[in-house]
Amino acid sequence: MSTVSEPNQLTSEEKIRKFNELFETKMNRNFVLSNSVCVHCGMCVEACHYYEATKDPKNSPVYKSDAVRKIYKHRHDWLSRILPIWTGARQVETQEDLDRLKDIAWGSCTMCRRCTINCPMGVDTALLIRSLRSVLNAIGDAPEGVKQVCRDQYEVGNQMGVSRQDYVETIEWLGEEHADDVGDPAARIPLDKTGADVMYVVNPREVKYAPMTLLAVARIFYAAGENWTMPLEGWDNTNFGLFAGDDVLGGRMGRAMFEKAAQLGVKRVVVSECGHGFRATRWESPNWAKMGLTFPIVSILEVVEGYIREGRIRLDKSLNPAPLTYHDPCNLARSCGLTEEPRFILRQCVENFVEMYPNRADNWCCSGGGGAMSMSEYTERRLEVAKIKADQLRATGAQIVATACHNCIDALTDLIKRYKLGMKTATVCEVAARALALPEKPKAAVPVRRPLEQAIGAGVKILVADDDRDARTFIATVCEDNGAVVVQARNGNEALELARREMPDLITLDIDMPGKHGGEVYQALKDGSELAKIPVCIITGQPKLRGLIYDRPLPPPEGYLDKPTTDEEILLAVRKILSLSH
Ligand code: SF4
Ligand code: SF4
Repeated sequence: MSTVSEPNQLTSEEKIRKFNELFETKMNRNFVLSNSVCVHCGMCVEACHYYEATKDPKNSPVYKSDAVRKIYKHRHDWLSRILPIWTGARQVETQEDLDRLKDIAWGSCTMCRRCTINCPMGVDTALLIRSLRSVLNAIGDAPEGVKQVCRDQYEVGNQMGVSRQDYVETIEWLGEEHADDVGDPAARIPLDKTGADVMYVVNPREVKYAPMTLLAVARIFYAAGENWTMPLEGWDNTNFGLFAGDDVLGGRMGRAMFEKAAQLGVKRVVVSECGHGFRATRWESPNWAKMGLTFPIVSILEVVEGYIREGRIRLDKSLNPAPLTYHDPCNLARSCGLTEEPRFILRQCVENFVEMYPNRADNWCCSGGGGAMSMSEYTERRLEVAKIKADQLRATGAQIVATACHNCIDALTDLIKRYKLGMKTATVCEVAARALALPEKPKAAVPVRRPLEQAIGAGVKILVADDDRDARTFIATVCEDNGAVVVQARNGNEALELARREMPDLITLDIDMPGKHGGEVYQALKDGSELAKIPVCIITGQPKLRGLIYDRPLPPPEGYLDKPTTDEEILLAVRKILSLSH
């Protein structure tokens, strides 16, 4: 069972003693090599987006790796043992030392490995940072967001704490949406089917916040005639063991998935679009889990590329006319070599593919890697250094940036808003699914969605709380056009008043509002009164304010959407919440 919260009990002295003990357990070949061979040539400096955005030498990779190297040298370098002042070697001795290391490990490096590929000596700074994180995590000096995600993976089995019941209900509901989407009442998303050719494992964000992406893949599998299933357990392809330096967690997540695949007797495990999820599942987890596997692990990108090459799916470029660029997720491009598959797919299904420079293994990090999206205390710094990525995106002139990673999607969405780029984000499979020609069907089975008012339910009452009149009117119109009765609130105080008076079936809630902000409204709604039963869907244009909702000791909202949002996204979220809450 998890021990992630227990080290918080340690005093400073105990932490320092334990830190120095645990540091010694990290002496594997790569760690020793990366600590020993740096010649301080400085070639890695301009490879780092933290340095490039700030020009602060303390943000250079060599400064960060030196923080680890100095501790290493203190014990393992003969010159440092004799003359530590000369070499700068030092032991961790004070709480300030720990605080400085914590800031470097969690707040100043996304473990993107761009510096690694630019180092002539082969120093892997990201590996040193992971080792440092591992020790800090073990003494309780990890950000609360990281601890929470680890706790959810240990205790619930997935990083967003999705219960088994919620998972099953969501997949069943998505199965019905999928049947509507492809116009085949028999189409479903199979759960725990034995003997399938494909076991598809996903990022929990897809189940909780981005069902469109799962629907897109279901559509592709349907068109290709794939024999697939999703597992009941071991379905989370992410693994915070990688970011937190926790090999025990890494092995536990890997084992859950691999044992399930073996039990179901599937032919291969296919990992959805998640950079670190694919790296962890394909390359790291089998080692952490100490398991020999009898099935291959592949990315959905490789699978879709195969479908196109084999003629199993047909794509129509004219359905994606807008200029589109591709962001290479660091973990896929630099650590897994998956650079050509997404480009091949996108070139088949968009009319105007624009390359981004630099790209492939030399691409800039989205700025949200290494678990950065879960550490709200570093949000401002993350967005400041995201300037490098923003400039790179702007130079493409594209209207859409596609990427094969859910974490990158969130980070790119944040920086697009901060730097007012006016671009949209999409996964590669979403773009492909839009261009997909479905198999011919008898006339009666031509894809027709259920009437939306039927899906939402006539007479359903929805409270739309948003101070932006355009956004409020858009959300309200979409809901009203589909059979809902809508009441509108222009600020937080009005939202609470209307919630008490109208007792709606659902509330869509903006965060950044005058008077009471969304976080205060949410707190008041969920404080234990009758109102607590009303499901809430956050719809915000300020994702950096998410902490006002999610950092509270309350159950998370039932739904979340980033603005600008589309009518389809709103309806999918509303349908999901209402069908699962009734
Ligand atoms: S490029 Fe490599 S050898 Fe040169 S300073 Fe950076 S880590 Fe050290
Ligand atoms: S791994 Fe990435 S973020 Fe970390 S120091 Fe290297 S270039 Fe910078």
